[in-house]
Amino acid sequence: MSWRFNALVLTTILALGFSALATSEPRYVILLIGDGMDDSQITLARNYLKGAQGRLQMDSLPFRSSVQVITMSEQDPSKPVYVADSANTATTLATGQVTSRGRIATTAKTDKDLTTIAELAKAAGYATGIVTTASITDATPAAFISHIGLRGCQNSERMWTATSLDKSRQGCEADLKANGGKGSIAEQIAEGTTDLILGGGNKHFQIMAETTDQTVQSIAEANGYSVIHNTKVLQAMTGEEKILGLFARKTMEVKLRGKDDRKAEHPKRKIKNWLSWSPNTATLPEPMQCEANPDFANTPTLPTMTQAALDLLVKRGGDKGFFLMVESASIDKQAHRRNPCGQIGELEQLDDALKKALTFAKQHANTLILVTADHGHAAQIIPLRYALPKKLSTPDKAKFDKSKADIYSPGKVALLQTADDQIMVINYATNNASSADHTGTQVPLMSNQPLPGMMQQSEIFSIMQKYLQL
Ligand SMILES: [Zn+2]
Repeated sequence: MSWRFNALVLTTILALGFSALATSEPRYVILLIGDGMDDSQITLARNYLKGAQGRLQMDSLPFRSSVQVITMSEQDPSKPVYVADSANTATTLATGQVTSRGRIATTAKTDKDLTTIAELAKAAGYATGIVTTASITDATPAAFISHIGLRGCQNSERMWTATSLDKSRQGCEADLKANGGKGSIAEQIAEGTTDLILGGGNKHFQIMAETTDQTVQSIAEANGYSVIHNTKVLQAMTGEEKILGLFARKTMEVKLRGKDDRKAEHPKRKIKNWLSWSPNTATLPEPMQCEANPDFANTPTLPTMTQAALDLLVKRGGDKGFFLMVESASIDKQAHRRNPCGQIGELEQLDDALKKALTFAKQHANTLILVTADHGHAAQIIPLRYALPKKLSTPDKAKFDKSKADIYSPGKVALLQTADDQIMVINYATNNASSADHTGTQVPLMSNQPLPGMMQQSEIFSIMQKYLQL
């Protein structure tokens, strides 16, 4: 009943929203994914960068929806799993089909390839592009342009070593070319038809392709790719050749870091605090601001790569148009490291990339912009009162800096001094392991075109498919 109603609302909205499109005019879809960018991560970035009354670029988008993230169990695909990873969610966005964690555009259990929006668009004559700050073989980009049973199978060497946390899962042997498969993710990308792919992950292309004495990069070049390693060359490209831009060995450097590279930290506890509850026996981390990451200096920014992609794809797409996916990957990766400044900088990069997309949409009428997250993440904004002595009822920075806490989060916290000149407490408490974890919350979808109020993640694929008339 509710699914049917949703489908009806979606169809009506799509019909209303897109009825003005002339069939002969080029169409453009720009899908921007903030990896792990749920509402909590957006709110903390907004508070820090702009202040509570400030606005991000994504806040200016007139249409909004809440998106349910659905994940299947690999053992029993009729059952849901409540926390996703980037592989299964990117598969859902790319193919409209729900699968299990770790899978790249393949079905749970039966391991069948699922056709992606990039493949459908290419077959219909559109240009296609992928831009990411991760390795281009990482889960999110990979799910749009390759098919494999496990996300770890990024290159020919890892086909033998990649494993899943789920020990009942098969590795990648079935996908080896020797076994009639398509080979690793890097090899599939090198042999593919995507017009433009920009990001990190060069190391996966300098490895010998399976059963050859050629690097994967050589195979990409033989397949017509211009393989480039710096943005100056990118900016000189004319769009006549397919482009594979590899700007970092692995994940690209991030824009911001905590002062002196600080991340979230445990409150320091005196022995008395371990023995029994008593006031003023724990010290919270000093407040800090974010600073520029010196290692980012020579890294192409996400907005720069996005602009280059828009300029080149509009040429290659001609009268037809294009599909472009842009991912800011390290919102997720920095949240795993409990590094709030890292994730804030990467969310800002996505917001700046969106600015480029919005300018493009002003100049090109039939442009659908979608901004979403694949899944939720660890960071939460928690009350300052946990960080204050009991008697101090109002936030007072001078007193606060010297204050001791008696109540605090069992996780790690960072105290950020925001654009409002207030302290914001960011908490990571999903686990006590070295990497903080994803959460199972619904995620936002923002657009320049009408959206239904509540959706499942697979419907984002349907919106793109209908817009491009695939
Ligand atoms: Zn993650």
